[in-house]
Amino acid sequence: MRIIDKKDFIEFVNLLITKDARTVVGVKAKGDKFIYDELASADELRLDFDVTVLSPKKYFMPPTETLLEYDLSSDFKVMSVNEVTPLIIIGIHPYDLIALQQMETVFRDTYPDANHLLKLERSILIGTNMQNVSPHSFAASMGTATTRYGYDLMLTDIGDSYYVELGSDRGEELLERYARVSMPDESHKKRFEAVINGIVGKFQKKLNFPADELPAILAKTYDSDLWANKAEKCLSCGSCNLVCPTCYCFDVQDVTELNLRKGERIRTWDGCLLEDFAKVATGENFREDRASRYRHRFMRKGKFLHERFGFIACVGCGRCASGCLPDIADPVEVYNTLKEEVL
Ligand code: SF4
Ligand code: SF4
Repeated sequence: MRIIDKKDFIEFVNLLITKDARTVVGVKAKGDKFIYDELASADELRLDFDVTVLSPKKYFMPPTETLLEYDLSSDFKVMSVNEVTPLIIIGIHPYDLIALQQMETVFRDTYPDANHLLKLERSILIGTNMQNVSPHSFAASMGTATTRYGYDLMLTDIGDSYYVELGSDRGEELLERYARVSMPDESHKKRFEAVINGIVGKFQKKLNFPADELPAILAKTYDSDLWANKAEKCLSCGSCNLVCPTCYCFDVQDVTELNLRKGERIRTWDGCLLEDFAKVATGENFREDRASRYRHRFMRKGKFLHERFGFIACVGCGRCASGCLPDIADPVEVYNTLKEEVL
């Protein structure tokens, strides 16, 4: 643990921006929302954000990414592409740190994905405990309101200074190199504990049952009428997938130049709510109706991925609820209703 005064923290961030070789990214205000973007100065950094529009996943799994280039001009040549920009990301809430850990597990599974993993390995993650909570977030119910892992440094605002937890040697080295810090005394520790103990009480949205009951509840409600009733209003826009920090499905396409000699293979974000997601080569679509697509997202988050990896792949950020125009995507509303059905 270390303590860094707020004025020294500003200097620390400005030194990272001007002296470190990595690109410094942080949370900035954009209108009445918050986004991750490159920082030009510490003044732009907003650690009082409630939630960002997209999670930091976008840096490790970009919305569009070239995987390889090919050239048939003479010999058949295929070059793998992995564009890595080492980053320092400042201001990641615990639920998004846990989501990044889940994604790392997914991208290490079966065929480790170098495009994802190398970007993650070369970046420094600086977390921040929540000062404000989105009205849609239910991270406290998912056990993701705080975390003891997944970061290089973790900041907690304790008034005139930040309480800094060291999560890795790389994080400690960063502080040694660029920051003026001191050791915490008893007063710092008490203030830190008071802040941490107060976080759970800030959440308005809650599950009415322990989250580990979710896989069993979903197993019993696969044929519930809720899916079709809710999906009647679904626009199949895919927003709930695209804003989610734990959605990782992608589509792969070959884009060939007009001369038919050169081209590239790209992958782009995809989502199970989109109509074409489950369409296969013969034109068959094995989740053609909206209700089955709508149900699939909840089943996958709360049951299927739990069976495969042992975690519930929803960290309770609430982005899907706030991004859904007809207001049908809120997991708390869906899961609490299903719990009542199985009582
Ligand atoms: S399902 Fe919704 S609440 Fe859960 S992690 Fe994804 S966007 Fe966040
Ligand atoms: S955001 Fe809402 S309307 Fe759009 S696909 Fe998801 S559930 Fe359907």
